[in-house]
Amino acid sequence: MSRKLSIAIIGGGIGGLTAGCALKERGFDVNVYEKATELREVGAGLQLGPNAVKVLDALGFRDALRAFACEPLDMVSLEWNDASLRYRQPLGSISEARFGAKYLTAHRADLYQLMVDRIGQGSVHLGRSCLEAATVGDVAMARFENGDEVEADVVIGADGIRSRVREILFDRDKPRFTGQLGWRAVLPMERVPLVGPNRDISLRRDFVGFIGPRGHIIMYPIRGGKLLNVFAGYFLDSWAEESWTVPSSVADMTASYAGWNEQLLEMLGGVEQIYKWGLFDRDPLPHWSKGRITLLGDAAHPMMPTLAQGAAITIEDGYAIARHLDAGAADPVKALAAYELERQPRASKVQLMARQQYINNKMVPSPPTLSRDWIFIHDATTGRDWEPAATTG
Ligand SMILES: Cc1cc2nc3c(=O)[nH]c(=O)nc-3n(C[C@H](O)[C@H](O)[C@H](O)COP(=O)(O)OP(=O)(O)OC[C@H]3O[C@@H](n4cnc5c(N)ncnc54)[C@H](O)[C@@H]3O)c2cc1C
Repeated sequence: MSRKLSIAIIGGGIGGLTAGCALKERGFDVNVYEKATELREVGAGLQLGPNAVKVLDALGFRDALRAFACEPLDMVSLEWNDASLRYRQPLGSISEARFGAKYLTAHRADLYQLMVDRIGQGSVHLGRSCLEAATVGDVAMARFENGDEVEADVVIGADGIRSRVREILFDRDKPRFTGQLGWRAVLPMERVPLVGPNRDISLRRDFVGFIGPRGHIIMYPIRGGKLLNVFAGYFLDSWAEESWTVPSSVADMTASYAGWNEQLLEMLGGVEQIYKWGLFDRDPLPHWSKGRITLLGDAAHPMMPTLAQGAAITIEDGYAIARHLDAGAADPVKALAAYELERQPRASKVQLMARQQYINNKMVPSPPTLSRDWIFIHDATTGRDWEPAATTG
């Protein structure tokens, strides 16, 4: 049997860790190099569309994921001022039958911990900020700020929107400020009213979004229903902060939504910890790979959060790269090219659609909602769209 390839992954976010789990499952020698000095994820929620859940289930996380994830029943859209119903669409009830997997919501930190445990802390090296990466003959190498240098058969740049690996391989452009900032916060569910701002809506059961002038606010349950996740997006002309994530205050957030539904603002007043983010993206990148080095996740295709697909497409990448390296282990350069060929068109399409949805969101009072069905139905474990099993009789 041939030697299993060694893979160095730069970046221990959701993307690097998914790739790590998928590669490890196939027997690769995997090491993850993360610049942060401690293991952590932002304290906020994540929507996991059925396309992401198919991957996580295939990685063997089915039961563990459902132990902390939630499955919102309906997607409910409300008017910003009087909380009257704009529309209600089934979400949880139809997802499995229509797309082949559930639509789940989870705390990022819970998913992150699951993946770190699977890879093994010994394979995740902290305090390693990558400075250089190169293909030298038949070897890929990476060098870190602390002077360490590693060699591997393949280097994967999973180092996020401000990726150093991407910069080394392809460009020196800066990410583009999208014109939106977002507050992320969580609320203990016991502080959330039993009925939501609209009497027919349950914030414990539904995915609820308010849309109005200059922004939108979405909420969904996470951590087995113990917490309510809040994301509040707000249109702005420029982002003056040096950092793209800064601590903020509840008063700062609620002042931006003055005049919005009173019960909603009262509830948001109970938030304890809150962060403010400037939202950035980039144009699609035509190529992701060079020699024995490639990109995945936000390093390759950072996108606006309007379709809640950045992490989902990243999770898909993580599985797909393991599939291609397994099938093409004899020639890793070719395997990376095949990975790029499969993933780049899909990720670019979602990136551009997320941008279009952002433009649509400004068309208040009736922003057109783009269908995500074609995204949800995909199964990255095979590289094809999911099809329901044929019924007999
Ligand atoms: C407000 C908001 C809400 C979102 N909501 C959703 C959602 O509901 N559903 C969804 O699917 N997506 C969502 N997304 C998108 C999602 O968060 C990202 O697409 C996803 O986290 C990308 O994962 P990643 O691993 O590629 O990058 P990251 O999570 O950014 O991880 C990159 C890692 O690389 C490390 N790193 C950086 N540079 C170096 C270096 N030089 N050397 C070593 N390590 C390095 C970083 O410390 C980090 O740990 C949202 C995004 C935002 C901003």
